[in-house]
Amino acid sequence: MEELIKELSLIENFRKYFKPMSEEEYVKYQTDLYNNSVGDLKYIDCKICKNKGYIQHIDENFHTYLTECECMVKRKSIARLRKSGLGNTIEHCTLDSYTVQNPWQKRVKDTALEYISDTSGSWFYIGGQSGCGKTHICTAISVALINQGRTLKYEIWRNLFHQLQSLQFDNEKYGYKLKELQDVDILYIDDFMKSLDRSKINTELNFAFEIINARYIADKPTIISSEFDISQLNSLDNAIAGRIVEKSGRFTISVSGGEKNFRLK
Ligand SMILES: [Zn+2]
Repeated sequence: MEELIKELSLIENFRKYFKPMSEEEYVKYQTDLYNNSVGDLKYIDCKICKNKGYIQHIDENFHTYLTECECMVKRKSIARLRKSGLGNTIEHCTLDSYTVQNPWQKRVKDTALEYISDTSGSWFYIGGQSGCGKTHICTAISVALINQGRTLKYEIWRNLFHQLQSLQFDNEKYGYKLKELQDVDILYIDDFMKSLDRSKINTELNFAFEIINARYIADKPTIISSEFDISQLNSLDNAIAGRIVEKSGRFTISVSGGEKNFRLK
């Protein structure tokens, strides 16, 4: 008898605590379960979605639906930054950390800021001697554009030139690489026309023309830094320089001379 009473009270307790769920309760339970589960997305530790990228909600008919978490915008930007090839330079090459001590530096920065908010699809060209912060300013522009949701590819000219040289006798691979350079939303070429081997200048100019012309025809924004200012580039090859000037317009910057004179076009 005592056993039976004990058993009945156990059943009573079980009923009290484990009564069957209504549909609404089940949906709520299932939603909480999803929202509390932990995902494995990288880069940011998000307390809202617990690194799944999505949040589950319940509508008025007790149907569930997912919305993207606010962290996804940032995650996608970080993923695009990593894919761009810009690497660690993005951390110290920001617009805020660009030194403005002289009028020409201020104008470089102002032009960069104007370019970032420009929506005409212009190109950006900065030419001049090393040490004037060309890579810094172009990297800062690149990061800003990636954060706007654009896809950008970073190429150091010297490496690109060597890669194209190694592919030039393989039509399929060469064509694939050129198509990749043509198709990317924004291409940033760093140290344009600076290769290690000046005896191969004609080959270098041929490759440069193919890329610039492909971007020109596709009408895709291109950011270029070079030790050659635009008039020096023009004396090397006026077909290349002409296309760059036409596309860059007021975003063509030359920093030259000991005084680092600044001029546009
Ligand atoms: Zn999140």
